[in-house]
Amino acid sequence: MPEGNQKLHPLENIRGVGPKIAESLSILGILQVEDAVFHLPYKYEDRTQLISIGDAPYEVPLLIEGEIVKSTVVFRGKRMLITEIFDGTGRLTMRMFHFAMAQHKTLKEGYKIRCFGVIRHGPKGKEMIHPQYRVFAKDEEIGMENSLTPVYPSTSGLQQGRLRKIIQEALIYCQQNKLLKESWTMDKENDFADLLSALAFIHNPPTETDLEMLRSGQHPAQRKLIKEELVAHILCSGMLKRETESRKAPSMKSPSSEEDKFMNSLGFNLTGAQERVWKEIKLDFCKEIPMRRLLQGDVGSGKTVIAALAALQASQNGLQTALMCPTEILAEQHYENISNWFSKLGIKVDLLLGATKTKERKRILEDLEKGTTNIMIGTHTLFQKNVIFQAIGLTIIDEQHRFGVHQRFSLLEKGGSKELSPHQLIMTATPIPRTLAMTVYGALDTSVIDELPPGRLPVQTSSRPNSMRKKVISRIEQVCLEGQRAYWVCTLIEDSDELEAQAAEELYKEINNQIPKVKVGLVHGRLKKEEKDKTINKFRKGEIQLLVCTTVIEVGVDVPEATLMIVENPERLGLAQLHQLRGRVGRKADMDSYCLLLYKEPLSPLAQERIKTMEETNDGFVIAEKDLELRGGGDIHGLRQSGLMNLKIANPIRDADLLESAQQEAFAIAKNNKAQARALIDRWIGTRLDYSDS
Ligand code: ADP
Ligand code: MG
Repeated sequence: MPEGNQKLHPLENIRGVGPKIAESLSILGILQVEDAVFHLPYKYEDRTQLISIGDAPYEVPLLIEGEIVKSTVVFRGKRMLITEIFDGTGRLTMRMFHFAMAQHKTLKEGYKIRCFGVIRHGPKGKEMIHPQYRVFAKDEEIGMENSLTPVYPSTSGLQQGRLRKIIQEALIYCQQNKLLKESWTMDKENDFADLLSALAFIHNPPTETDLEMLRSGQHPAQRKLIKEELVAHILCSGMLKRETESRKAPSMKSPSSEEDKFMNSLGFNLTGAQERVWKEIKLDFCKEIPMRRLLQGDVGSGKTVIAALAALQASQNGLQTALMCPTEILAEQHYENISNWFSKLGIKVDLLLGATKTKERKRILEDLEKGTTNIMIGTHTLFQKNVIFQAIGLTIIDEQHRFGVHQRFSLLEKGGSKELSPHQLIMTATPIPRTLAMTVYGALDTSVIDELPPGRLPVQTSSRPNSMRKKVISRIEQVCLEGQRAYWVCTLIEDSDELEAQAAEELYKEINNQIPKVKVGLVHGRLKKEEKDKTINKFRKGEIQLLVCTTVIEVGVDVPEATLMIVENPERLGLAQLHQLRGRVGRKADMDSYCLLLYKEPLSPLAQERIKTMEETNDGFVIAEKDLELRGGGDIHGLRQSGLMNLKIANPIRDADLLESAQQEAFAIAKNNKAQARALIDRWIGTRLDYSDS
């Protein structure tokens, strides 16, 4: 991998970026000035003109402005802030469910308000729910935007307005310092001479720009970037492959004599697919070059056993294994399972978490360095400098999600020495369509578990409008009173985990009141870790029957008795994420399980299509293909979030027509201009977050 981590242009060069903002930016992968200009919008809003309320159409985002006629807080089952607005042509109600009383105070009668949002049919006619708004005095003039407004993926505590300013400043900085001027790909027809001008356009498209073209990723400014990005990824794959082949790894030939013992203790046989995958891994272990294998298997397909078998073989060869999980909950779950499985075999498993107490941590680290510990489970803390293995032979990452595969593999090198690299196995439940795998992950070998353990019944998925909420709740009551368990998932509201947490808390109260016989628990991202763990453990044991949660539950939690999942506002999620969520149920043989998508009407055509796909298939690969197809419209946001890959702008399915020329160019560059190849990789991939010190 490139040594692309020197920060030549630190963020502090940008006006308005202090340590706190820099920290928020780092969560978005923005570590230096160039990263900021590569942080691309996932959609645009047109705030260049005011629409009169009387003529304003429904269901499209738009900007209105009027006078505040009245603003009141009412209770209709729950607290609401209702503001009446009049602009001379019509009336509009602004309705808010989540608000602070201070907010209410600013909405003074006689003041003007400008709102950006979607108009829906409300009880009193046109209404906007939670629009973005700005209040100002009657005699005050506020200007209009003069280009389309980009909307960026963000993180809590970093507002769009602030992020927009930072990116604009970063563009200016790059212009002044002549950064990103060179263009390394050759497309003659493209109007954009260099990368920076294409980027500047994407961050500030003029009012008259064809929004549809931008949405579908067809604008020349986007195509310029897409092409270069594809070239960079293809180059990176090739380089990784060559690099891997030049390294040495400890051969782990000796068959694991304990394997039979372990298998017998499991209480089930491997599925055919598990057998096949395990054989593929064993063959890799015999070689003296490091394994770089991506193991794909749908949720519930049984990847953990494979990880255990691999770790067992390593320990039989006198080598240690590091198993890294994306969350502490998942790490603990694996620790429980694996230490249980291995306790009789005399294999020592340990768990290292951020919260591990100093004394215990010291003991754990010493055992690891002495070699007493065979399998070390943890989160990314495992890659901190003070975590020293005596002899590491294998690193495994479970459920890689938020970061790209290339980054993972370079990270994993850290455990090894100059002479020997550990074998590496990445397990993912996110199926990667073949087209994608070939171009972007060319450096990796892949294994697929394409079969579920026997007796597993497909999750029956159906959708219901929110108007049937009462019925849904009584269904939950029935299921829980029969001794089964259920999840109710609240989805992200307005990209804010704070609002999401609030919504989950309200729902928790609502349900608690309605079905007092059922024990309900609550888990969201704003709770302390101990609290979350406690609740999840209670749910696991059945002391809680209904778990109200946010999407934090998405990754890996395994409670086989859970047979029902309600996903509220599924229209807010992408297909891949919905499928991941659904995988939390249907994990036990011969048990029927259900997923109910409780949506708000009316659904956009895209949301309808997604929900239909969910109802029709349980096949993760079909869903992944469909997901990429439906995202045709430039929505890289969700794609990046799904962890499918860390492409900033390209979508190999949508942009398939560029693949061949990208491949040819990558080939030529790799052959003729090594420095340029490096620079390209650095530009697109190499400067990403290195969190080994975190
Ligand atoms: P995932 O691939 O989602 O990580 P897990 O490894 O958590 O799946 O496995 C899901 C469940 O299926 C676990 O309870 C596991 O013990 C069980 N399981 C795994 N393999 C088999 C098998 N071959 N037969 C029966 N049950 C299995
Ligand atoms: Mg798993």
